[in-house]
Amino acid sequence: MCRHIGYVGTPVPVGEVLTRGPHSLRTQAWAPREMRGGGTINADGFGVAWWGRDAASVTRYRNADPIWTDPAVDEVLPQLTAHAVLGSVRSATVGMPVERAACAPFLWENWAFSHNGVVPGWRSVLTAVLSDLDTAATRAGMTRRYETSHLLEAEALTDSAALWVLLRRLLDPEPPAGLAETPATALRLLVTGVLHHAPDARVNLLLGNGTALWATTCYHSLYALIGDEFAVLSSEPYDDDARWQQLPDRSLVCAEPGELSVETLDLGRSTAT
Ligand code: GLN
Repeated sequence: MCRHIGYVGTPVPVGEVLTRGPHSLRTQAWAPREMRGGGTINADGFGVAWWGRDAASVTRYRNADPIWTDPAVDEVLPQLTAHAVLGSVRSATVGMPVERAACAPFLWENWAFSHNGVVPGWRSVLTAVLSDLDTAATRAGMTRRYETSHLLEAEALTDSAALWVLLRRLLDPEPPAGLAETPATALRLLVTGVLHHAPDARVNLLLGNGTALWATTCYHSLYALIGDEFAVLSSEPYDDDARWQQLPDRSLVCAEPGELSVETLDLGRSTAT
């Protein structure tokens, strides 16, 4: 069910983040070790986003074809150097379109986002989450609105693209002030809100802004590799480095070079209360 990877640190070739190690993201696309929930391979496209030194803007490349069939991965992407990279390979959920617009990473401002999992009944679930957020904002005296019409902004008719609409509404720093003051709060509000309405949802999110990575674990695997000058979060370890740490399920993770923080997702809390 999709695999993703994020890197921040000293400059690396963008392509190398997709192909590094004997069990690279590209290898995980056709031979994943820890697929849970029915998927077998990740052949419905891939994408990669990268940031330059100032992290002020993000660029991406996506293709709806399998990552192992695209020569750009070996011939073009290694020519580009970046301080941060976020990549994903996709196994489309049954009923969701196989097209480039549905391939993560999804971008907004200097943010890039990937979702590994599924939100069953996503249209009604995310409509309910928006309505809960709106109620919570009103109760808190905030003037920012969380309108269900925002869902029309989704780039593709998939749960992942729609989750990104909600998350970027929570992340938006423009006044009027909203419910989330930090990226971690935004992720927590989104995941707890989704699980409140869809307890079976699998919401493994990965978010980057060029200087740090945030992730949630909810059903699928996630590992961290932290060095003094870099941080990696990855669905599966790409090599046998002894420093890989498996992150517990139901966690909210933040990683930066030399730093990892892991908090438990508070699933008792709903956005409506
Ligand atoms: N549900 C998402 C999609 O179809 C993600 C799929 C996955 O994690 N396999 O794009």
